[in-house]
Amino acid sequence: MSTPPAPQPNPYAQSNPYAQQAPYAQPNPYAQPNPSHGAPTGMQAPAHPGAPAWQAQPGTPFCRSCGAQPAAPMTVRSHAGFLIVMRFHKVEGPFCKSCGTSVVRQMTTNTLALGWWSPFSLVFFSPFTLIWNLVVSRKVAALPAPGPAMPGATPLDEGKPVLRRPMAYLAIAPVIWVGWVITNIITHA
Ligand SMILES: [Zn+2]
Repeated sequence: MSTPPAPQPNPYAQSNPYAQQAPYAQPNPYAQPNPSHGAPTGMQAPAHPGAPAWQAQPGTPFCRSCGAQPAAPMTVRSHAGFLIVMRFHKVEGPFCKSCGTSVVRQMTTNTLALGWWSPFSLVFFSPFTLIWNLVVSRKVAALPAPGPAMPGATPLDEGKPVLRRPMAYLAIAPVIWVGWVITNIITHA
């Protein structure tokens, strides 16, 4: 058995200019949870007690649903009326852009579908609700895209725009009915 050759000196061991002066040998500021960058690595370990790591701007509202920022306070409404039974529903934020869009679209669609089947709903409450949500939707649209959600939460799915939801078109029925009533009134006058 011949002895294996002695290891030759690795020519790169001494000549590697990066061996001694790697810039990454310094503490990497991104290695610590850095809330201002919203990195997912910062979502698990709070930077300090009482302050969630995903909080980018202390003192400003969190999304009630997913914890993301920025979020804006808002109240989203829906209304349903069946003959003499009326149901008023509201959801209060704050919501981020994704969750706010989701809630506004869902509750507006519900109102368009169910909001017309009692007289007061038809004349007062549903128009008010739709105008209210329209104003809220402008507020939501003005929000910047949300940062990361809090651990374990996901932003609500925005879903399709209201006018691409078939349920919204139930609103056409009362419009046709009102038009028919008005036409009858005029033609029989
Ligand atoms: Zn949210």
